[in-house]
Amino acid sequence: VCAALILAGILLPCGLFSGATQNGKVYSILPADKIRTVVIDPGHGGKDPGCNGSFVNEKNVALAISLKLGRLIEDHFPEVRVVYTRKTDIFLELYQRAQIANEADADLFICIHCNSGAPEAHGSETYALGLHKSEANLAVAKRENESILLENDYSKNYEGFDVNSPEGSIIFSLYQNTFLNRSLSFAAKCQKYFSQDAGRHNRGVKQAGFLVLVKTAMPAVLIESGFLTNHKEEKFLMNSENQMIMATSIFRAFTDYKNEIEGTHVVPDIIINRWNPEEYQTVKPTQDIIDSTKNRRKDTLSVKEPEVYFAVQFLSSPSFISLDHPDFKKLIDVRYTTFSGIYRYTTGIVTNFEMAKKLQSKVRSTGYPDAFLVAFRNNSRITVKEALDILGGNQ
Ligand SMILES: [Zn+2]
Repeated sequence: VCAALILAGILLPCGLFSGATQNGKVYSILPADKIRTVVIDPGHGGKDPGCNGSFVNEKNVALAISLKLGRLIEDHFPEVRVVYTRKTDIFLELYQRAQIANEADADLFICIHCNSGAPEAHGSETYALGLHKSEANLAVAKRENESILLENDYSKNYEGFDVNSPEGSIIFSLYQNTFLNRSLSFAAKCQKYFSQDAGRHNRGVKQAGFLVLVKTAMPAVLIESGFLTNHKEEKFLMNSENQMIMATSIFRAFTDYKNEIEGTHVVPDIIINRWNPEEYQTVKPTQDIIDSTKNRRKDTLSVKEPEVYFAVQFLSSPSFISLDHPDFKKLIDVRYTTFSGIYRYTTGIVTNFEMAKKLQSKVRSTGYPDAFLVAFRNNSRITVKEALDILGGNQ
């Protein structure tokens, strides 16, 4: 390990660098010039639900965003290996998460969490490891570190770690600094897209003593995607499409970061699916098109669509569901569009806004409480507001 330290221009007692070794294996302390492996770490899991909203737990939202992010990276950068610390609802100890990242020789470690706070607190923030600059940052690290209290033998695994004073018991070895700039750079990019694409309030890039980040030997961030204790934000985060928007934001940050490290200018062919505060839905995704012959149930093939119409989106799914599925029988004009591997199912072809709203409440009452209005022009998705502007005279 000392040879590596000299390479980095730093000579310090190796004992400080315990984070860079695990199971006797020594990990490089020099950041790589290529992103080959990314480890995605959905916070909490199993007996550790994380923080609670009124409807969802942190562990489930974190997992949903993580899986979507991993899928985006796998789809667009097949040369990058994506490793998940968990893909299901299981409990993992914090040091195991870091160990997975170290053993995978990851070039980037992304922990995804949700925040908890006063009812009015809202917005996204991204952390790198470091000394907290405010009590609020310390409180977030303390809460996230408390997961170890659910572990069987935490005093042994964390060598006398004090949950109440994380930074007092963390040695901020210089080796972390070789990764700090990169962690901060990636964190800033996440924040940029959370704000720009996902419409999240930007709480900024921060630092605090997160145990899960301490033992990692690569650039690493912990994302607090939003507050489950804020009703509006919980509603946003529990929606599968919005989770996709959050994942896409992180994915865009990842793309920029990868370009920065590798000196490339790759622009992936993704649909930038932004949060639209007005309609609480996305702007027109360019490839989100209904194919009149392919994406429609047979019983609707004879229907000629008007140029502009409303429909009710009742389901989105990462896997294809047959249009002939028995659950869809009671719905009319069922079609689907695809977007970044997500199938979005709609029902109805309606040109009258009042009728469209009635259809929406009917669909909601038949088992799809989250169903919402969407609109199409020439079978391409437009916003509901655009459709209203066009159809205004025909109401
Ligand atoms: Zn958490």
